[in-house]
Amino acid sequence: MARLSNVFLAGAAVALALGAGLGSAGANDSVIKAGSDPNEWALYGKDYGNTRFSPLKHINKDNVGNLKLAYAFQLGSLRSNESTPLVIGDTMYVSTSWGPKYVYALDAATGARKWTYEPDMPDDTLQFACCDVNSRGVTYADGKLFVGRLDGKLVALDAKTGKELWKADVVDYTQGSVITSPPLVVKDKVITGFGGGEYGARGSLQAYDMNTGKQVWKTYTVPTKDQPNGDTWKGDTAEHGGGAAWLVGSYDPKTNTVFWGTSNPGPWNTAVRSSGDGNFGKLTNLYTASTLALDADTGAIKWWVQGTPADAWDYDGVNELVLADLKMDGKTLPAMMKADRNGFFFVTDRETGKVVSAEKYVPTNWADKWDVNTQRAVEVADKRPSPNHPAKGICPNLIGGKNWQPMSYSPDTGLVYIPSNNVCMDWSVGDVSYKRGVFYLGAEFPTHEGDGYNGELIAWDPVKHEKVWGLKSDLPFNGGTLATGGDLVFWGDLHGDFRALDAKSGKELFKKNLGSGIGAGPITYSVNGKQYVAVVVGRTASIPAFLGDLGKKMTAATPEGGALFVFTVD
Ligand code: CA
Repeated sequence: MARLSNVFLAGAAVALALGAGLGSAGANDSVIKAGSDPNEWALYGKDYGNTRFSPLKHINKDNVGNLKLAYAFQLGSLRSNESTPLVIGDTMYVSTSWGPKYVYALDAATGARKWTYEPDMPDDTLQFACCDVNSRGVTYADGKLFVGRLDGKLVALDAKTGKELWKADVVDYTQGSVITSPPLVVKDKVITGFGGGEYGARGSLQAYDMNTGKQVWKTYTVPTKDQPNGDTWKGDTAEHGGGAAWLVGSYDPKTNTVFWGTSNPGPWNTAVRSSGDGNFGKLTNLYTASTLALDADTGAIKWWVQGTPADAWDYDGVNELVLADLKMDGKTLPAMMKADRNGFFFVTDRETGKVVSAEKYVPTNWADKWDVNTQRAVEVADKRPSPNHPAKGICPNLIGGKNWQPMSYSPDTGLVYIPSNNVCMDWSVGDVSYKRGVFYLGAEFPTHEGDGYNGELIAWDPVKHEKVWGLKSDLPFNGGTLATGGDLVFWGDLHGDFRALDAKSGKELFKKNLGSGIGAGPITYSVNGKQYVAVVVGRTASIPAFLGDLGKKMTAATPEGGALFVFTVD
């Protein structure tokens, strides 16, 4: 943890007081309420804490074997469909890849289409999207839908009609900055980041008025020389320093704090932006590969945790922050959990920013440990690449111990269900100079497949820091997870196999192949007393290009696809 200044400490105290009054005022009351409605799936991660836990249990471990198709819906857009659908009342909202090419409103019980939003999108977005033409979903609040787009725009739609209400320019996508994840609505603000860590973009988080689309605040995730911590960058390299906040945020109403992770620094060649040696473990290239805590009203940074200082391995720190209260040492910890790409599972006190534990959840060798006493990683010097030292056999690989695919946390079992990867790599660096709109990397990174398996669904105990059960797979980059009150975990893999597993034991209770690789997290909801489980399928085409021969296996496993499948039981 680190504090910016006393000014921000004072800001934190004020925010706390505001948060305490949220029950009686604030336009996000409906979001908080919807997040706790067991019948709905109203936020990307089910609730502000991104738990992806639904208490629904009509579908449970005794009857899930009878799961059958309620309906399927073709998304009309192939390749890399990563959307988490939302269900508000009896309406489902689902976005597609390529922009999104479409946002659909469907009858959540039948799949009948209510409306289609088809934005006018430029045709050159793919070259500016490092990691595919993704749309991970939309955000709902107060009768409006908010959609982040590959062309750097944020739009508001009337949820009843799909009509566009306003459109804001967040970022110029031709610098290599696309928006692929749904924004976070807090009170009357719509907060979004964007991509670009691979293109030398300088990251920021931005808040817009939900009713007008006017920008309210903008906070850069990378400070320039004249700002606090600007001296953690060599020369003026911060201007192309990455730190893009391209995945989703979380929110704690109690402290009025928004949490967001930041990407790798740019470029991948560390020597360009820091001294590259002798500073192992120091905080360097702030606030990249970090978790940021920001005041929701002002965007002021309250504190940060830098998981990977002077990142040299593309260990983005963007993975979702799961907020839950954990019983630890006889006390209740207001926890923030993160399965970091860098191989460590972080449990942090979300009210103070102090890391309470950070343990390896996958084979990890770039650091011996992450020391909670010093709040720093203890690096293994041999695994840090530099111009004179190509590093060999680094684990995890750049796709990380876990990538964007969401984990879930069940308060019933106390376990986190992590779609993890077991892949390693070599890494050598070379010269690179910034050129707008093209990759700014300066690195070669050949892949080493894992020993016997490349991916594993892990049930992880965040209190005891241990794996309770695991399900290994030959391919990495498998889908997100859903945990339910029916003692179930739902999970799809890159072969297109969609499974229901016993949440306590990992025993497989249901499996059906859906025809294309699955990355998205499944959801569950209830309409007219009937519970449904939904998942979007359609594998990525861009990520395998980073993984050599392993990548060829990933694309050979299934054809591209784009469909929504919805299941139920009688
Ligand atoms: Ca990255």
